[in-house]
Amino acid sequence: MNGTCQTKETMYLNKGRLYIISAPSGTGKTTLCAEMLKNIPNLKESVSFTTRLPRTGERNDVDYTFVSVEAFKQMTDAGDFIEWAEVHGNYYGTSIKRIHEIQQGGGDVLLDIDVHGAKQIKSKHIDAVYIFILPPSIAALQERLNKRNLDDEATIKRRIAKAMDEINDCMFYDYILVNDNLSHAIEGLKSIILSNRLKAECLNAEWFEGRFGIR
Ligand code: ADP
Ligand code: 5GP
Repeated sequence: MNGTCQTKETMYLNKGRLYIISAPSGTGKTTLCAEMLKNIPNLKESVSFTTRLPRTGERNDVDYTFVSVEAFKQMTDAGDFIEWAEVHGNYYGTSIKRIHEIQQGGGDVLLDIDVHGAKQIKSKHIDAVYIFILPPSIAALQERLNKRNLDDEATIKRRIAKAMDEINDCMFYDYILVNDNLSHAIEGLKSIILSNRLKAECLNAEWFEGRFGIR
């Protein structure tokens, strides 16, 4: 995709929008988000805080900031999170400070969070684009969870049950994207983000006035 907003000529865009992406575990959200971060300029992920243990290969402050339950609770009490939720028995939260840092650096913010977290942000009427990714079917989701080789059978069963709840709840999102063919899903997600950047409401008013003398 070669839209103008992928070039360095992006002065006409206001930055700082939130792109909230949710999907049942195993759908391919990490894979898709990594592609977006690699291919879309000025899009940065806010690294979440979590109380879960790092998986093999995960790096602190890159994949997550791994903290104790006590440290997490101190952060919730201090109001440090824009949202937080308990997912699969662990706490996860999005830091307000980290979002602001990305926005102040001129970036749009990608949030990979669960449905409860997305709902909390929606209830605060914060400007954001909500994207839900569906697996092609429950059978395909099960196969991906098996292939990922991270969880035992009981955990996979729990993840499938949670997937059904999340899918049942996905209609408050702005976009629903099916991750069937991976390259099609990558193009679909890129299109959503890039077309949202071109919305009139994202126009940089100072740039517009400077160019055309119209307020
Ligand atoms: P999530 O972050 O949603 O839990 P991952 O990105 O870790 O999911 O993907 C789960 C597994 O499914 C990984 O093995 C990944 O390579 C695979 N996968 C992702 N997208 C597809 C796709 N479109 N078709 C087949 N397998 C996929
Ligand atoms: P995992 O532990 O497999 O990386 O993530 C489990 C789930 O937690 C995923 O659905 C992911 O989107 C969600 N998650 C990750 N970070 C956050 C966060 O900061 N807040 C919320 N609410 N969910 C998160």
